[in-house]
Amino acid sequence: MVIVMKKEAGEGLVSKVLAKVESLGLTAHLSRGKIRTIVGVVGDNSAVEPDSFACLDGVERVVPLLGPFKLASRDFKKENTVFSIDGSQIGDKKIIVMAGPCAVEDKNQVIEAALAVKKAGAVALRGGAFKPRTSPYSFQGLGEEGLKLLAMARDMAGLAVVTEVTTPEQVPLVAQYADVLQVGARNMQNFGLLHAVGESHKPVLLKRGLSSTLEEFLNAAEYILSHNNPRVILCERGIRTFETYTRNTLDINAIPALKLLSHLPVIVDPSHGTGKRELVSAVSKAAIAAGADGLMIEVHPNPENARSDGAQSLRPEEFEQLMKELRPVAEAVGRTL
Ligand code: PEP
Ligand code: MN
Repeated sequence: MVIVMKKEAGEGLVSKVLAKVESLGLTAHLSRGKIRTIVGVVGDNSAVEPDSFACLDGVERVVPLLGPFKLASRDFKKENTVFSIDGSQIGDKKIIVMAGPCAVEDKNQVIEAALAVKKAGAVALRGGAFKPRTSPYSFQGLGEEGLKLLAMARDMAGLAVVTEVTTPEQVPLVAQYADVLQVGARNMQNFGLLHAVGESHKPVLLKRGLSSTLEEFLNAAEYILSHNNPRVILCERGIRTFETYTRNTLDINAIPALKLLSHLPVIVDPSHGTGKRELVSAVSKAAIAAGADGLMIEVHPNPENARSDGAQSLRPEEFEQLMKELRPVAEAVGRTL
């Protein structure tokens, strides 16, 4: 960080700043200009609050040079983070597609969805057993019974399972059945949950909060990484804006921005990002073209009867068609599918 002293700050005040820098085990580089004195702070100051300098007499402002997140940042780790989800590498050249119903509803539904998405080329089955619904009267998911159905479908179809966990207490149970723990948008800043999934050492799919900035999103990832759990996937799923035609506004900027700021894999959920089945295909292609490492897509064998998110769920044949259309887009940007 750089500390800019006020014009009128005398030697005494500058010395106090230098003493504080040294007391923190850091090194101060003093630059005396004609008008102002600037103190450059060198060393690992990631745990130092800029405000602890900003409040000192004689300090005009403090400019942090690195973002508040460290382990998640590209400055900290230059090369892309790549890891395996049940044998498929995410963060590498191949685009990873996770697909399945919004919620696990019954045995036939989950098996049908799993076989269909596998046939079309998905590597993971998504499906919620614990659903974070806006209304307490909406379908809340089948709980452990849903997890068991997912595990059965995984074995039948040969897919990894991605499913949501909504409380820290649920983590051990969900981790028994899931290959990837999903933290939903509504829980992006549930810090107790972030600590718990970090401690689980399972891969974590972290969704961007409904109104979160990229800095808040990456700080949420930092919580998980700080437990020495490096396997975090960032998922852009649309944010709240003034637009009401779509359920959310998918932030396409977030894809290249997150890839620039962070080494973590970035995927896109065009289903929640749009809320409309007819938009999912175009937005999926845009996401791949913008550099996403993967997609999470809702697919339901019978969306008309879905207990949640039917309007944004693709039918199996629509998903198969989309996968075909995505291949040349992936190839055009040097990726495979
Ligand atoms: C989901 O993926 O089922 C879900 C609830 O998504 P989000 O957290 O992005 O709303
Ligand atoms: Mn859903």
